[in-house]
Formats: sequence, C-alpha cells, structure tokens
Amino acid sequence: MQQPSTRQDYGSDPLAVRDSEKYQEEYIEGFVDKWDELIDWDARAQAEGQFFIEQLRERGAKKVLDVAAGTGFHSVQLLEAGFEVTTADGSPVMLAKAFENARRRGHILRTVHADWRWLNQSVHDLYDAVICLGNSFTHLHEELDRRKALAEFYATLRHDGVLILDQRNYDALLDHQVQPTHNYYYCGDNVRAEPEHVDDSLARFKYSFSDGSAYHLNMFPLRKAYVQRLMREVGFQRVDTYGDFQETYRETEPDFFIHCAEKA
Ligand code: SAM
Repeated sequence: MQQPSTRQDYGSDPLAVRDSEKYQEEYIEGFVDKWDELIDWDARAQAEGQFFIEQLRERGAKKVLDVAAGTGFHSVQLLEAGFEVTTADGSPVMLAKAFENARRRGHILRTVHADWRWLNQSVHDLYDAVICLGNSFTHLHEELDRRKALAEFYATLRHDGVLILDQRNYDALLDHQVQPTHNYYYCGDNVRAEPEHVDDSLARFKYSFSDGSAYHLNMFPLRKAYVQRLMREVGFQRVDTYGDFQETYRETEPDFFIHCAEKA
C-alpha cells in the first residue's frame, strides 16, 4: 500500500482522478486531524441517537467488525454500549488516529489494517455484524471493487449476520434536488462540505475549515437503488433502507441512506 503524503495531490486534472486506491492519499495527516472537527463526535452522537445500537441489538448481534473505522467514532460508541468490536480500515493514518482517540477514552482498540477488497486476507474470524459507515463505500470507483468488497463483507459474516452500510443521498444531488450550499448533518459547525463537481461517476467534495484550510474527496456518487441491487446480487436476502434513521421518508429529503442487509 502507498504511504500517505503530507499534501493532497490530485495532479493537473483533479476531475480525472476516479480511482479506488486514491483514499490512501486523500486521508493525509492534516485532513485526518481535522476529521474529528468535521464530524463533531458530540453532535453526531446526538444526531444518530441509538439507531445503530438498536439495529444491532434487534438482530442479537454481539460481535461487530467496523470496516471503515476512520477516527474511531462508531468503534468507541459500540464498545461503550457493550459490543465486542474489531476495528479495521485501509488507511494506517486513520487507524492510528482511531486507536489514539479510543485510548484517550479508556479503550484499547483491536485494530486490523485491511483494504475491504482483500478483507479476508487479514480478518479470519466470523462476525454477527459488519458496519461500513460515514459514507465510506463511496470511495470505490469501480463496480468490480464494489462487488469484491461486498463479497468480502458477506464472507466474514455468520450465516445470519447483517451488514450496515450508509451512503450520502447522491440521488438528490445527481437529480439536482438539493442546493449545492446545503450543509450535511454530520458536520461540525465550523466546517462546510460542498460538492464542487458532480457527474454520473464523480462527486468531488470540498471540506473547508474555520482556520482557512481546505481538503477534497473524490467519490463515486452511489444511487440508492444501485447499492440495494449490488447487495442482493452478492447474496444478501433482505435489504432495508432507512432515510436519516427513519423507516419512512421522502426520497429527496434525507441526507443519508442507511442500508441494513441481512444474510438470512
Ligand atoms: N466511518 C468513519 C466515520 O464515519 O467517520 C470514517 C469515514 S471516512 C469518509 C471513510 C473511511 O473509509 C476512511 O477511513 C478510509 O480510509 C476508509 N476506506 C476507504 N476506502 C477503503 C478501502 N478500499 N478499504 C478499507 N478502508 C477504506
């Protein structure tokens, strides 16, 4: 895997960067340090409430694999709620930050450095649940990568396990149903997240911080129905999708969709 550099570099044509490996370079230390300010743990905990904990408990899940740990928000939340958690991410910078954040809260995270596409090379256990949250799946730019990752998640789940994966409501963005100035729910007050460019295979977002710094992410704009279809095609039997943590919602309204995909 590539080492993270100290500066984001999209070359001379940033809109041409549509690459599933790019996340390794996008999450440079400066951005990762800002990430907690971006997601604002307290505001996020309040916005999410008990949603994920309830989804997991309803299904009797105890052992959870967080495959997109980022800075560790959900791993820590679930540990504190009594789940047995393993924390994975493909970015060593993110994993180090997650470990440090958890340690400051009195937890020692069990971490695994793994890219989703080859998850089972590093993860040899079976889990009741896999979580892939915070609009992470959007980092895969090729359909083959998305299928491979979902198949790896499927394989690490017990026979009746559940995959919980969320995504930004890109349908609303692609269909021009949200204002570009719209601010997204899990951002801290001092951060702006704005789409700089959107087409059928790229959503380039700019994250601007109060100290004047700015970073970008080049993501694949996942349509909700497409993700549901992929999940079914890799073998998940039932996919329930929530809009901003609600069972009923108008398609254009939610910022985020949360898919709960059951294996049995
Ligand atoms: N879940 C965290 C949250 O909600 O704050 C982090 C979300 S962040 C948008 C996306 C995370 O997915 C990053 O930590 C990144 O390193 C990880 N990621 C992206 N592509 C990956 C891949 N192919 N394999 C493993 N991790 C990946």
